[in-house]
Amino acid sequence: MLALNCVAELKKPTHVGFGTGRQVRDLRRKPFIPSIVLTTQISNLSLRLAKSVNRPAPSVRVSDGFLMGKEKMVKVRGQEFFQGQIAFQVQVPEDSLDIVLGALKLLQNFGIGANTSMGFGYCAIKVVGTSIGESEEVIPRFNPKATELIGDGEFSLPSSFVRLAQQIFNRLKMNWSSWFRAMETGVIERIVYLAGETEIKNPFAYRGWLRSKLLELWEIEHGSRITVCPPRVTPCKVCKLMGRMGDKSRVIVRTFERKGEEAVVWLITDNPSDEEIDAIKEVTKAKVVRVETVADYLPTNGRR
Ligand SMILES: [Zn+2]
Repeated sequence: MLALNCVAELKKPTHVGFGTGRQVRDLRRKPFIPSIVLTTQISNLSLRLAKSVNRPAPSVRVSDGFLMGKEKMVKVRGQEFFQGQIAFQVQVPEDSLDIVLGALKLLQNFGIGANTSMGFGYCAIKVVGTSIGESEEVIPRFNPKATELIGDGEFSLPSSFVRLAQQIFNRLKMNWSSWFRAMETGVIERIVYLAGETEIKNPFAYRGWLRSKLLELWEIEHGSRITVCPPRVTPCKVCKLMGRMGDKSRVIVRTFERKGEEAVVWLITDNPSDEEIDAIKEVTKAKVVRVETVADYLPTNGRR
């Protein structure tokens, strides 16, 4: 096993969904990201990358993610979100290292935590130290560069800090298992990035607007009083793209406010069809700025 010491710098706030608006906190009273959240998200992306190149999905273990330094708390729609630097450790079989590194790279733009379709959890992740060994007890020291990054060079040991109440753990487990079931788990064909400008600065409002525009363009009407297809029936084209209960959206909307100007909006689309891209371009006037394939995440295309 190889251990990667990682630091994620959150560029957009994150929120750990477990059914309450509050965040889980460690014994320092700092918000943190429980292991189950990071494990679920990194496993999902590793699985998709592995499938894309016909390799077995690696078994990944991730520690809790701890805040280093100061946090910034923000309230969004009545819920607690936080921003700051998160330290966590990923344990990965050596022969799957490239896949897990690719998954970490993907996680940056897809986002850590809940509500990622609204752009939350966007981050920059650095692997600041690695170690090889059998022992899972010893957390290796950061390399000199990392020490610079975190100040005192201490890597907070998760288990000594946190013991979640069983009830909270159960809720987290339930929420993140259903998150995994709702997520796309197929191969990564392409990820298309669009950028544009908008007067709608709130990503939640922007998504609602985009959904209604697409319904209009494709002349789709939901039954009376519902705005989204119900679960377990074949979804309409809009819900297939924008998501519904039990199916995550394949579009991430991330807005960036600029003083006195229209906001910049990024639309990150996961395996879109040409028709979907054309429709998004037509209603949003956004332009395609980048197209990625699995080769952007697995430079050797998975061959070894
Ligand atoms: Zn629908």
